[in-house]
Amino acid sequence: MIPPEHPRYRSLFARERLARYAAEGIVSLEGLSAHGRGEAFDYLLGEKTTASALLAEKTAAALLLTARDPVISVNGNTAGLAAELIAPLQEKSGAKVEVNLFHRTEERIKKISRLLRDHGVRLEEGNAERLLPLSHDRALCQRGGIYQADVILVPLEDGDRCQALREMGKTVIAIDLNPLSRTARSASLTIVDELTRALPNLTSFCASLPRHEAEALAGSLDNTRFLADALEMMKEGLSHAMD
Ligand code: ATP
Repeated sequence: MIPPEHPRYRSLFARERLARYAAEGIVSLEGLSAHGRGEAFDYLLGEKTTASALLAEKTAAALLLTARDPVISVNGNTAGLAAELIAPLQEKSGAKVEVNLFHRTEERIKKISRLLRDHGVRLEEGNAERLLPLSHDRALCQRGGIYQADVILVPLEDGDRCQALREMGKTVIAIDLNPLSRTARSASLTIVDELTRALPNLTSFCASLPRHEAEALAGSLDNTRFLADALEMMKEGLSHAMD
């Protein structure tokens, strides 16, 4: 049990949760190292949501609200870290939710689906088909879900799949603490923030953003600005580290 007054409580709590879900087969072992990479970048950001990331979250809410057919793609780390944050976002955004895994087994799909349903998520039903232009099982997705979506939120995505979705003409929103990753650079919009800070912000923007403002924000998106802001914040953090 981690004492709540521990200065690194949030980080230790997340690690404990991921380790528990890894033991249950929900989070992959590879997912644990991906989380470590994210934590390192979060350290450079001061482990807080920057003003620029908050604007990216508002813009992401605008994209979801103005979409024809939005989908939230959930992988093992997202379910492990944030299962309880998905249903409120689904409710306020009107998006479908699809489980989509890099290290895919039917057993993991079932376990993650059960965890999400237990937290009130309504999942897309149906069989996955090989519909994305990618090799191996990463090509699998649902025809009525990711395949036909126009806007997809892919928290913690890998670069190849993000690029493939973009090449299919989709608007891709990534949540990724690493502004240098292929995902961050190929997404239509990258939220450089920690997943469990980003999702509640997205939900409250989805609940409060008026239609005309959502349309204006969605039309004025400049992802290079968000990536440059994140790098600038990290540079600034480093240059003051020795003060
Ligand atoms: P890419 O394939 O996009 O070049 P990668 O190989 O780093 O990048 P993955 O190994 O799939 O991609 O890692 C997923 C990304 O998620 C990492 O870049 C990491 O920074 C980020 N990440 C991990 N945990 C979190 C989190 N809790 N919140 C936000 N981002 C995270």
